[in-house]
Amino acid sequence: MDNRATGEERFSGSFTQQEPIPEAGIEAAIAVLRHGRLHRYNTAPGELGETALLEEEFAALTGAKYCLAVASGGYALGCALRAMGLQAGEPVLTNAFTLAPVPGAIAAAGGVPMFVEMTEDLTLDFADLAAKAKSSGARLLMLSHMRGHLCDMEALVALCEGLGVQIIEDCAHTMGAAWKGVPSGRHGVIGCYSMQTYKHLNSGEGGFLISDDPQVMARAILLSGSYMLYGKHRAAPPEEAFAQIRMETPNVSGRMDNLRAAILRPQLPILADRVARWARLYQTLEAGLAGVPGLRLVTRPVEETYVGSSFQFRLPDWSDARIGLYLTRCIARGVELKWFGADEPVAFTSRYDHWRYARPQRLPATDRILKSLIDMRLPLTFTPEDAALIARILRAEALAVGQAPEPERVDPPRVQ
Ligand SMILES: *Cc1c(COP(=O)(O)O)cnc(C)c1O
Repeated sequence: MDNRATGEERFSGSFTQQEPIPEAGIEAAIAVLRHGRLHRYNTAPGELGETALLEEEFAALTGAKYCLAVASGGYALGCALRAMGLQAGEPVLTNAFTLAPVPGAIAAAGGVPMFVEMTEDLTLDFADLAAKAKSSGARLLMLSHMRGHLCDMEALVALCEGLGVQIIEDCAHTMGAAWKGVPSGRHGVIGCYSMQTYKHLNSGEGGFLISDDPQVMARAILLSGSYMLYGKHRAAPPEEAFAQIRMETPNVSGRMDNLRAAILRPQLPILADRVARWARLYQTLEAGLAGVPGLRLVTRPVEETYVGSSFQFRLPDWSDARIGLYLTRCIARGVELKWFGADEPVAFTSRYDHWRYARPQRLPATDRILKSLIDMRLPLTFTPEDAALIARILRAEALAVGQAPEPERVDPPRVQ
């Protein structure tokens, strides 16, 4: 992979290429296509649908009593808010550092996003959370474990109990992660997940909600568009939970189908292996970037089992121009970096102040941290050798750009 002209190493892998669907998933999908019963409630007599089985298996994997599979991660978040009884105009606390579907789900469900500052470890700032919970009277926190960074979950649960705030967890980046061994998604009233192609299981689109609360889950199932067929669910609360609410809960269709469930089921048993493979990629990068002057790695608490499906670091003392030059040079060598400090949203990387439908809010700590934050995907199609090569390029460029005279402002090239 040497560049002959300069002798510089270059990386040629794709940062957006995921692994193929396991053969067992392809076989199962073909079987569903052959019989044609794709709708989750369209089952032959005595047949257990793929979706109902998938829910049962994911509930078992996370230790949750109940599980509902839905059309997307964003749908799961909106459904969770409605199932918690969100009222129109109600404030919902959420991370300022998150992805667009999170504030989008709050707004779509009629809530008002109230952004909470982040810490340098890229997690929720508890002091700001407490202040905003008190000033707004919010009773819901949609906690986004953005880029897989878990806050101290035990401390958060205790804090929220004191504040009278209930937690919905956005585990789009933490499926397979844990805090002191408790799976991510099991601390809040509801845990939500995404099975969109770039997450930890891949069915193109898809989402899960898990909960131990029978009323909340009954409402979520009715909301998802179960008509009066909720009896066909397996990881669902008993009939009594539906009796009161079955005629007063609106249908907001967003079901999972048997085709995608068939693709997903064989991926559940290999999730732990994927987590271990991601850890190797992540730790290879971490080791390769240790001790670079000016480059700050994110501290990972020992209580956290993380999924290294992406990698972040900060360049806190660098100007925008220097960061721009760094991105340009890394991208030219095949390493696709994203910067959360860009003025314009690029691809998946938008920032709280780009979400203009939310009430304008000032978050100076978050602004300062995002200005220095660099982000990179780590698909499992990369090998540990790839990760080592990427680390060498990132390191060499950080040393070179860090020592260069103050550059002119350059706009980093746009990657998708
Ligand atoms: C992907 C993602 C979601 C859900 O997105 P969908 O594309 O609707 O599945 C939610 N939160 C975060 C942080 C995400 O990255």
